[in-house]
Amino acid sequence: MARVFQATHVGKVRYNNEDSLIVIEPETFVVADGMGGAQAGEVASQMLVETVKDFLSQSPPPYDEKILSQAILLANSKILNLARQNANYHGMGTTATILSLDDKKACFAHVGDSRIYQLRNNFLTQLTQDHSYVETLVRRGEITPEEARVHPMKNVLTQAVGAVENIFVDTANFPIESGDTFLLCTDGLTNMVDDDSIKNILQSAPNPADALIDAALNAGGRDNISVIVVGVD
Ligand code: CA
Repeated sequence: MARVFQATHVGKVRYNNEDSLIVIEPETFVVADGMGGAQAGEVASQMLVETVKDFLSQSPPPYDEKILSQAILLANSKILNLARQNANYHGMGTTATILSLDDKKACFAHVGDSRIYQLRNNFLTQLTQDHSYVETLVRRGEITPEEARVHPMKNVLTQAVGAVENIFVDTANFPIESGDTFLLCTDGLTNMVDDDSIKNILQSAPNPADALIDAALNAGGRDNISVIVVGVD
C-alpha cells in the first residue's frame, strides 16, 4: 500500500495548464507536460495520460517497464497522427513520465524533462535523466546543474512524445523499501524549487503535494506545476 498526494496548478503567469497527471490502479502514476501553440499542449498531455490508462487497463498488473514503454510509444503514434490531421496541432508534443510500484519493486518509463525523484534515508536522488539540451551541456561538463536551471534554453527538449516518429523511452526497474518516498513532477516545480527545499518538504509537510505547489508559487510560479508524491508504507 502507498500514500498518494497529487496536485496541479496553472501557476502565476500562464493562462492555461498544459500539464496532465493521472493515478492508475494499481499504484501507477503518470505526469505529462504538454507543449505546442493554442490549446495543443493540453491536447497532447491529455492524450498521453488517457492512452496510457486505456492501454494498461487491457493488461493484467503488475506492470513492467516494457509495457509502460509500449504505452508511451502508442501515445506517440496517436499524438503524431492527430497533429498531422489538424493544422492547429502541428508540432505539439508532451513529456511522459510513468512510475509503477509492485510489492517489492518499482519500474519507470520516461521521455522528456519531467522527473522522478526518490527519497530514501535522508537522500534525495533524481532517478530520471532529462531529455533536454541543457542536460546535454551538463553531461559534457560545459555548464553546472545550477546554471542549467536558469539557462535561456532550458525549455528545449531533445525528445518529446508526439513530436517525431522515433523516440527512445528510458526505462528502469529497481527494488523498493518501506519508507521510500517517490516524487513525480513537471519542470514547473524543479525550475522554481531546488532539490534541498524539495527534500525538506517531502520530509516534513503533512500534505507534500500542496506544499510543493505552494513553494513553486512563492518562488514565482512561472510555469504550470504538477506533482504526485507516493509514500511506500
Ligand atoms: Ca512545463
